[in-house]
Amino acid sequence: MRDWLKREPIVIISGKGAVLRDVQGKEYLDANSSIWTNLHGHQHPRINTAIARQLKRIAHSSALGLANEPASLLASQLVRTANPRPVGRARAGSSAASPHLTKIFFSDDGSTALEVALKLAYEFTRRTRGSGGRASARAGSSVASPHPRFLSLDGAYHGDTIGAVSLGHIDLFHKAYGGMLFKTDKVMSPYCYRCPFNKARPERADAREYRKCNWECVSRVEQKFSAPKKKGNPYAAFVFEPLMQGAAGMIPQPEGWLKRVTDIARGHGSLLIADEVMTGFGRTGVVAADVRRFISKSGRKSEPPHVGCYESLFACRHEDVQPDFLCVAKGLTGGYLPMAATLTTQKVFDAFLGEYHEFKTFFHGHSYTGNQLGASAALASLEVLQSRKSIAARCTLERVMSQELKTLWALPQVGDIRQVGLIAGIELVRNWQTREPFDLRERAGIRVCEAMARRGVLTRPIGNVIVVMPPYCTTSAQLTAIIQALAAAVKKVL
Ligand code: PMP
Repeated sequence: MRDWLKREPIVIISGKGAVLRDVQGKEYLDANSSIWTNLHGHQHPRINTAIARQLKRIAHSSALGLANEPASLLASQLVRTANPRPVGRARAGSSAASPHLTKIFFSDDGSTALEVALKLAYEFTRRTRGSGGRASARAGSSVASPHPRFLSLDGAYHGDTIGAVSLGHIDLFHKAYGGMLFKTDKVMSPYCYRCPFNKARPERADAREYRKCNWECVSRVEQKFSAPKKKGNPYAAFVFEPLMQGAAGMIPQPEGWLKRVTDIARGHGSLLIADEVMTGFGRTGVVAADVRRFISKSGRKSEPPHVGCYESLFACRHEDVQPDFLCVAKGLTGGYLPMAATLTTQKVFDAFLGEYHEFKTFFHGHSYTGNQLGASAALASLEVLQSRKSIAARCTLERVMSQELKTLWALPQVGDIRQVGLIAGIELVRNWQTREPFDLRERAGIRVCEAMARRGVLTRPIGNVIVVMPPYCTTSAQLTAIIQALAAAVKKVL
């Protein structure tokens, strides 16, 4: 905190597209989309218009016991986008029986979206699991599972409220609150670059590409699920960020990991809670299989797949995984207003249905739930997201990002470059040949980001990892400028 008090803060007064402007008139590229929220750029005309139009009607009325038009429309749009036809790597194996997410619970931010999923999964499990952890036939017929337990990933971050912190496993953030938390278990996450099972020597490539292992991380998940099941108390739910763990340090999962571990979890009777607070709304890129199909049809490898590029807005769909709970926030409103949603199934909804005197309702609600301005912004953002123009822009941005990131391998302080769609994490190290990290006290990531800010690029590090996650409207030239500022900053301060 003393650091913060020592220097003058950058005071932002306006923004347009990918550019932010401070009170001194200095311009910055918004290289982390204003902490991973902004999708289409600042002052987007469609979203501005939608909010202004809604403002002429009403800004907010309570959704507790009442409904409103924009929130209802948004709920139906979310159902449409979260249950697309099967796409992605596992199209052929797609199961018709996968959960259909048709029920939406609105809240305020990523943390509350997770709290809602957690509480719903907890109570659903208590009400539906018979003794021995088996699902009982009739929801509400049994309270034989008194302490449903949750499993999440090592390094997990799911928000800062107490339930979300309980699911988290980042000592630096969470240890101080240990006494306030409920116990959850953790399992190894696939951090290929620093995986003890990866026998490969470091190369100048994303560690997922050259790793030498036998998927021991998946075996660990299998073991983790087996033990409590044998004791008759299987996990109620498995909580994960699909494809990439954000605050853990932008830790990407090797292709196939998500499908494998979620199959294991399901096989052990566990619900799936997908935290797509960071990864949702196109952030993890277009579906690779569709891009490949397009390229092979056109025969022109360098051409961006502007046409015929079917894409999915959620990371889970890249591996054809359909969770029981899908938590979204950050980009839901295009990064304009705080709003979140927890999507779930009719089956979960039904477990909370009862006569008034049974008090089976879900006792949870926030004052700004279903806020009309937020919902209007979200509806406009979804429209933009699904336009051909936006899809084309994202395809191009992803490709340019991958090309530009390659230039960073020339820096000896770069140990790993991890890109998933439009998200990248660059891990800085003292020695790339040994993977020796910088001590956190050296503030390597912070110093690099400060030097980037002096060069007109704003982002925040996670320890020694520099995050590059620009809005989708970022031009190729702007992206080049971001990467050049990063390289110059590393050279200057490390
Ligand atoms: N889940 C994930 C994956 C996140 O990245 C975050 C925020 N960085 C949260 C939950 C919490 O979101 P919020 O800050 O909106 O509460």
